[in-house]
Amino acid sequence: MNNPFIELGIRHDIVNAISELGFEKPTPIQEASIPVLLSGSNDFVGLAQTGTGKTAAFGLPLLELIDFEENHPQALVLCPTRELCLQITSDLSKFAKNIPNAKVVAVYGGASIMDQLRSIKRGVQIVVATPGRMLDIIGRKAIDFSDIRYVVLDEADEMLNMGFQDDIDEILSTTPEEKKTWLFSATMPSEVRRIAKKYMTDPHELTMGKQNTGNANIEHEYYVVRARDKYAAFKRIVDFNPDIFGIVFCRTKIETQEIAEALIKDGYNADALHGDLSQQQRDKVMKRYRERSLQLLIATDVAARGIDVNDVTHVINYSLPDEIENYTHRSGRTARAGKTGVSIAIINSKELGKIRQIERVIGKQFIKAEIPNGFDVCEKQLFSLIHKVHNVTVNEAQIEQYIPRIMDEFADLTKEDLIKRFASLEFNRFLEYYKNAPDLNAPEDARFRERDGASGERFSRGNNGDYTRLFINLGSVDGFGRGELLGYICNNTGIVGRTVGKIDVKGVYSFFEVANADSETVMNAFKTIEYKGRQVRIEVSGDERSEGGRGRSGGGGYNRREGGSGGGFRGNRREGGNGGGYPRRDGGDRNNGGGFRDFSGKRREERSERRNRS
Ligand code: AMP
Repeated sequence: MNNPFIELGIRHDIVNAISELGFEKPTPIQEASIPVLLSGSNDFVGLAQTGTGKTAAFGLPLLELIDFEENHPQALVLCPTRELCLQITSDLSKFAKNIPNAKVVAVYGGASIMDQLRSIKRGVQIVVATPGRMLDIIGRKAIDFSDIRYVVLDEADEMLNMGFQDDIDEILSTTPEEKKTWLFSATMPSEVRRIAKKYMTDPHELTMGKQNTGNANIEHEYYVVRARDKYAAFKRIVDFNPDIFGIVFCRTKIETQEIAEALIKDGYNADALHGDLSQQQRDKVMKRYRERSLQLLIATDVAARGIDVNDVTHVINYSLPDEIENYTHRSGRTARAGKTGVSIAIINSKELGKIRQIERVIGKQFIKAEIPNGFDVCEKQLFSLIHKVHNVTVNEAQIEQYIPRIMDEFADLTKEDLIKRFASLEFNRFLEYYKNAPDLNAPEDARFRERDGASGERFSRGNNGDYTRLFINLGSVDGFGRGELLGYICNNTGIVGRTVGKIDVKGVYSFFEVANADSETVMNAFKTIEYKGRQVRIEVSGDERSEGGRGRSGGGGYNRREGGSGGGFRGNRREGGNGGGYPRRDGGDRNNGGGFRDFSGKRREERSERRNRS
């Protein structure tokens, strides 16, 4: 059977090159756009998410249409960021590797302009550029665009978001009228529509998937936490996902830097990517991330644009973006090339409205997730370790010499004892670290609660003055769920279940609402009741602030936040040693409870960063 790319009209030497890259069959956007673009006679608008195979969708037809015997620019690809520019250049060069004399040059800010000028001078057919540097080079009269036949505007919406409208106008004014323009965009805001109208004649339009919707392979989750618990909750999510390879989005450069620094101190393989870093620093960070020496990349929206790293397992919105559109761009960094991924938002209860807005834009519902408790994390980490032990590659030649001595050491242990000890070596440390871990889930704002009724939640009566919210020093660690706690309360007090309002079961404490008339009865009834040898304590709950304070003072030790004891879950070693290895976590961590500030309230404009990008 013929290679499906050949059937689409791509020639053998290009197909051979992409086969080596593992492209066996075209992605949907390639299948739909390649035949149209190969005709070379249309303007074109493609609405497609990042990660769908867009680069080859326009790149393969470009390589077919360009005359590589000529040594002057025939195609210009404009894109928003340096990272994307380098990625496209690298992809096109790989696709063209069997085409004699094919030259693709990347033109972007933050690198030596002299080198780029020299490459242009040597002769080039395809220029891939970010707008700022491109204009600079045009201004120096160092490039001749009078024979440009194709202009590709990639991630057009991003370029407009970043304020490149005027630059694009100016660049395009130096290209011939009769060129063809191909525009790709993940979304179609009115500005992009205007661009399409301005530069194109009767373009062929193609929409892959529903416009504005996120990738179907992405699962969206949100966690509701109190602002002060945000960092601890974030770390808990990371700890619960031992194999995470994630991008964490912050709102400002400062927040990005601070979160990255805190994570590094806490022993995570993390680093920051933002516009205050020099180009060299950014390259270094990206290299480490691509090589997976970093597990977590902490980034601003602008810096992360165009990042094309496959196999990102999680996108974490440490702070939600100011503009909803940016949520789509963020989450699009995962689930690339047909993979699946999770996009997580860590929010406070007041931000639930934003989640509902995002749901409307992406056309998908978020799943409300609970911050895992310490026990869940320990279990997850334990089995991750067990799987690693099971799958480790044994270096027979090297270990051989030690085997007799090791056997000697273990002679008195059964296989079962041995397994227990190996597992305990790490597990004890997890348990120690998490033994008093507090529940980090915050109650939701009643206005936005879970598509009402769907979660089986009882409705809060708190805002109708007839109910009192009570605190009880029993929770999930004592084996209570909502139903069990309701039964326990009713059995011990004689009040009936339907008069009890919302029940929030936490780790070592819970809250429940009772009719004002019953609150005295309930408090008195429990005065003499013990649970497993512990006096049950009921108090009237205050507002959210006093709630936390009350919890901490009465919960029997759960005031120790992760890291608060001075012994963190992850050790102090930054690297996993072998790049992807299991980091040792035996070092003394810094005290997060005292040292880490909450940054969630801060906002900072990053407009200036945009200019630095190009
Ligand atoms: P893009 O949307 O161009 O950034 O592509 C996303 C990822 O999919 C890149 O890593 C490409 O190398 C990969 N890719 C593109 N087209 C194909 C294909 N037909 N088969 C397999 N992988 C592809």
